[in-house]
Parts: sequence; C-alpha cells; structure tokens
Amino acid sequence: MSSVLDSVIDQVDNNNLNLVRFLFCDTANVIRAKASSAKTLRLRLQTGIGLVKGAMAVNMLDQAQTDTGYGATGEVRLVPDLKTFRILPYVPATAMLICDMQELNREAWSLCPRSILKRMIARCQEAGVRIKAAFEPEFLLGRVDGDQFVPIDRSNCFSTEGMNRAADFINEFATALSSQGLTIEQYYAELGHGQHELSIRHAYALEAADNQIVYRETLRGVSTRMGLVASLAPKPSPDWPGNGCHLHVSLWDANSNTNLIGEDQKLSAIGRHFVAGLLKHLPALVAVTCASTNSYKRLQPRAWSSAYTCWGYENREAAIRVPSVYWGQEAESANLELKCVDSSANPYLALAAVIAAGMDGVANKLKPPEPVSAEPSTLDPANAEKNGVRRLPQDLGEALKALECDEVITEALGAEFVKVYLAVKRSEQAQFSGLAAEEEARLHFMRY
Ligand code: GLU
Ligand code: MG
Repeated sequence: MSSVLDSVIDQVDNNNLNLVRFLFCDTANVIRAKASSAKTLRLRLQTGIGLVKGAMAVNMLDQAQTDTGYGATGEVRLVPDLKTFRILPYVPATAMLICDMQELNREAWSLCPRSILKRMIARCQEAGVRIKAAFEPEFLLGRVDGDQFVPIDRSNCFSTEGMNRAADFINEFATALSSQGLTIEQYYAELGHGQHELSIRHAYALEAADNQIVYRETLRGVSTRMGLVASLAPKPSPDWPGNGCHLHVSLWDANSNTNLIGEDQKLSAIGRHFVAGLLKHLPALVAVTCASTNSYKRLQPRAWSSAYTCWGYENREAAIRVPSVYWGQEAESANLELKCVDSSANPYLALAAVIAAGMDGVANKLKPPEPVSAEPSTLDPANAEKNGVRRLPQDLGEALKALECDEVITEALGAEFVKVYLAVKRSEQAQFSGLAAEEEARLHFMRY
C-alpha cells in the first residue's frame, strides 16, 4: 500500500507540476510561501525549507521588528503537513502544502502559530474534548477602475440580483474550493454593495484553520485570475458594512464523538462554562481575533458585528450568539458563534486563543451571566454593568493591553510568542495612528 508521501509525489508527477509552495501564515496574518521545485520535492520534504527567524517578527507593512530579538540571524525549517497537499486550481502547474515551523533540533518553534494551535488541541484531548470549528468569512468583490474600487453589485441584502451579478465568480470560486476538498455550506449576497458570504462546513480545529487558509488563498487566486478584486478586510471602507469572519465552535466528547455543547435546544452545562470562559477573556481575546487596527472600525453597535461583552440566544448583537439548532439534527448542530472575529486574524492563533479562553471556563466551572435578549446598546447602564455587559476594546491598543495582562491567554500562546505579537501589533498601531481613516482602510483592503 502506498504511503501519503508516495501519493503526493505521484500527484505531482502525474499532473506535470513545476512548483510546490510551502505555505505559512505569519504573525501579522499574511500568508507567505517558499516554493520547492516539483522535481526535488521528495528531498525537500525530508530536509524542509529554511526560513529566517525574523520572518515572524514582521508587521503587515513588511517592517521588521528586530528589537524583539528576531532579525537576520537564526533559522527554522518549514516542514509540510502532507495531509494539506492541494493542486492549485487558480495558477498553472503549482501545488501547495501548509507547513509547521521547527527548530533545527526538530522541536516545534515557539513562534509557529500552527504548532501553538496543535498544543491547545492536545490539551483539549487530555481533557477528553475535541473541538470542531468553522470560520465564516464575508468578503467584498469588485473591479478596479483607475484608482476606484467598483463593487460587483449594488444590490440588497440576500438579493438574487446580487447573486446574478457575482455568479461567474462565485461558480469558479465554489468549484475551486470543492476541487481542494472543502465542503460549501451556504451562500448569499450580504448587506454591502459587492459583499458576499460563502460558508464552509465545520471540521476539527486544525483542519478548520487550514481551511481558512485555503479559502483566503482561493478567493484571492480566483479573483485575480478573473481580473477582479476581493477583500476580506474587516472594514474595507469607513462607510461600508464590515466583513466579519464569525467563528462557530462546538465541543465533542473525544471517546463517544457526541456533541457536548447543547442540551434540550439550549447550551449544556459545559457549553455555559465555555461561554463564561470566553466572556471572561474577551477583552484580551479580541487582540488576537480582531487583530488589526482596522478591526475596531468594524466592531460598532447595530452593525451585527458585536460591540459588547455578552451572550444570547439568536442575538446577532451579542459577542457570542447561540444559534437555533437544525430540525432533525438537534444534537449535532448545536454550536456557538463568536462574532468578534475577522479575517485579519491568523486563524491558528484565533482558534488557539478561543480554545484557551473557553477551556479555562470549563476547567474552573465558571458561570456565565444571564443571556441577553435585547440589543445591548439599549440596556440600562446599571443593569448592563451588573450583568457584565461592557463595551469591547475600542481600538487595537486597548485590546493589546488586555492581552498583556491576561495570564491564561499568554500562557496558552506562550510568553515568547506574545512578546513578539505585542511588538508587531504595536508597530502597526503606531504606523496607522496618524493616517486618515480612508488610507488605513485602503491599506487593509489590499492586504487581507
Ligand atoms: N457584516 C456583519 C459583521 O461585520 C455580520 C452580518 C451577519 O450577521 O452576517 O460581522
Ligand atoms: Mg453574514
């Protein structure tokens, strides 16, 4: 029987590929790669590809933060996970592999986001829990005319007119995602002009984060090939609706493979503990799940993006929404949705931090406050305060301060990693603080 390795090499040979990209997602959530020649792939899979350590201390503007101690010296290896092999449908003769980063002694590197998530998954496994998740990105689609972005449609939310205008792209996109093994759940034209949402089926945590990388790569790749522009930026323009990337999470018993999060169409006890953990750590968590200065332009009241630390059943203004379960799939479909997540977040780090926060609630049997059924900005301030309903951090700096003080999240991500993360993100904050909102939005528009 041939191994996974042989199957990868066979696919490379049979499809006459030239290059295989070794992909990683950096601290600033930019997806980068070094490519191996297809001819020498077998060797490269043994040796890995070298990467300068300073690559993980670079911000989204490619400015190196060498005072972190990571610069031009020192090297790690990009080591591919063979299960992530995919032939790319949007560029010729090329495949990709998603990589972990290993020190030269083969230990997982402390700045490797994928290894950080794997560590959290292993901790859950020890606690008898497996996490399933799905990122749910919204994006903007259009074309560039001169220096103007022209949205693909100017239609209403959920409108079939919007679907028709975007249909050529959406068909290509859906085909490309399916050919890479992703299962599409739903699609609709969102509220904003040119804004669309196509969601992917949930998967175990590592695969869910890998899927988000494949999704982003495919969105950019297919749109570029069709002469279009797509952006997942949280607030692509100050005047347009934001692009969320809500994160759906459920907890499964590692032995019996049953969903633990719901009971009688409500959250179970363990589900409530998980929610309490999320709420407790939310101000620090958003430093990782809403990772850019641009993110905080999106997190406004009455934008369905969430702006307050609260949870509720079917409440689209709450940071944590517990959606109604599906008919006939009541147990399997129970999950919670974290709304304060966007696509400027590195998906491995976002999921690792979410797991750390939620599982802190489970381990310490924390109790959440009462669910909120109203629009949180309309609550009487005294009642809101009593129920822990507070405004989320209003800029990245505030969130980073909360992260710096949060021992649970820092321990989970690793103190060394958090040190670098704070430096990278504070450098972005300093770069963007003097810029006009339009310019800040434009720079994020192009990057994410
Ligand atoms: N666009 C909204 C956001 O920024 C979400 C709308 C929805 O509920 O799908 O999160
Ligand atoms: Mg939506």
